[in-house]
Amino acid sequence: MNRKYYGKVIFELSKPGRTGYYLNSNGCDAHIPELPDTLLRQTPLHLPEIDEPTVVRHYTNMSANNFGVDSGFYPLGSCTMKYNPKINDELCSLPGFTGLHPMQPADTVQGALKAYNDLQAMLSEIGGMAEFTLNPYAGAHGELTGLMVIRAYHRSRGDLARTKVIVPDSAHGTNPASAAVAGLKVVEVKSLPDGTVDVEALRALLDETVAAVMMTNPNTVGLFEYSIPEIAEMVHAAGALMYYDGANLNPLLGIARPGDMGFDVMHINLHKTFSTPHGGGGPGSGPVGVRAGLEEFLPNPVVVIKTPDDDDYFALDYEVEKRPGSLGRISSWLGNFAVELRALSYILSLGKDGLAMAGSLATLNANYVKESLRDLYKVAIDRVCKHEFVFDGLLDKSTGVTTLDVAKRLLDHGYHAPTIYFPLLFHESLMIEPTETESKETLDEFISVMREIAREASETPDVVKGAPHDCPVGRPDDTAAALNPIVSFHEL
Ligand SMILES: *Cc1c(COP(=O)(O)O)cnc(C)c1O
Repeated sequence: MNRKYYGKVIFELSKPGRTGYYLNSNGCDAHIPELPDTLLRQTPLHLPEIDEPTVVRHYTNMSANNFGVDSGFYPLGSCTMKYNPKINDELCSLPGFTGLHPMQPADTVQGALKAYNDLQAMLSEIGGMAEFTLNPYAGAHGELTGLMVIRAYHRSRGDLARTKVIVPDSAHGTNPASAAVAGLKVVEVKSLPDGTVDVEALRALLDETVAAVMMTNPNTVGLFEYSIPEIAEMVHAAGALMYYDGANLNPLLGIARPGDMGFDVMHINLHKTFSTPHGGGGPGSGPVGVRAGLEEFLPNPVVVIKTPDDDDYFALDYEVEKRPGSLGRISSWLGNFAVELRALSYILSLGKDGLAMAGSLATLNANYVKESLRDLYKVAIDRVCKHEFVFDGLLDKSTGVTTLDVAKRLLDHGYHAPTIYFPLLFHESLMIEPTETESKETLDEFISVMREIAREASETPDVVKGAPHDCPVGRPDDTAAALNPIVSFHEL
């Protein structure tokens, strides 16, 4: 990064009269028609006046201010910031895909519809579900869609009293938010000291007003919920459905399937588990899968095989017959198609064995980092973890060095910080998800930096508390930014 350019907006670089284009002063023979006064601007266009090299440097330096998986290790818990193979981008950028229009007749887009249909089938196989829709745009949107499917199911049976959703206290914030948006009331269930759902507390909450129980597995603390079979049995006995938040599917890939565990509805985050560059608000995709018997409630449109005797011809179902029980449209067209194509490319290039290997390595890497640091950082819950784990800050609490300080000090070493102060179950949560795409060398370097920071915390705590020392912005006041955001640039 070039500091000279840091933090300037392009208008600050503007110099009156300067331009970034060169037209021969006597050679411009474009015909400029006379326009009536009513169509002309009354005030000059407010544009920066800049030469070409300054524009190029401005944007190049701005792009380099961003930290991404392609710039360094990014152990942001719950976000699965794994490396995204470039072949996925290349495939979804083929002109045969990027040049499509969503309103083209089905017989001109057979390849795209086949890709869509194949991905639906692969996700159904991976999740152990009867059918998937790819329409939702993100994980939270998938949750909303899945809960709407669950509501439609209860309504179809005349069971109108089911208005509550039970959500564990360790759940991602989108779970209660989606339930509220779906018009359902959120009831929280506590976790046991080992981080898993308290089965007895859950049993006490179940009655004929519960529509669904949402579970994340592995849960947000990175632990496998070992009581799922027992929970599924009692939830079903109470007439409610089991919802699986599959945003953390990475460690289960090719190893275990939510459908086999007794879940009725699930979503997957394609941008996390199936490798699309994400963060900063998009693009995402949150396909929703359902078990047999719930397909009719899925949103429209779906890709179907049009005629039973021609299983090579794909159509959109609004060309054929609409699902009578469908909850209708939840997105324009068929979701984020480029993200779907990347997922298809990722699954096809890894294959079944490769996916299972990715899942196992995600688990191995997380446990390796956890075990290598447990003598200096407090393991929040001492169990074999899945793809991620939580430290409750430094083991030695006498130094006064907090999780925020550790996270800031990591920036000086060129790492993205882990997730901090989430989950809320611990005071000093530091949630680390290394992912399967990191080499042992990268993990070892990270471990040695974390050990070095723990040593500094005891010997020179001010160095950690004053971090970062090497970033253009150090410690912004989070509260001021939220209470008094400055969202547009005003020239001084
Ligand atoms: C990321 C995540 C979500 C939300 O997904 P978005 O695509 O960001 O909406 C939901 N649940 C869990 C467990 C997650 O990690």
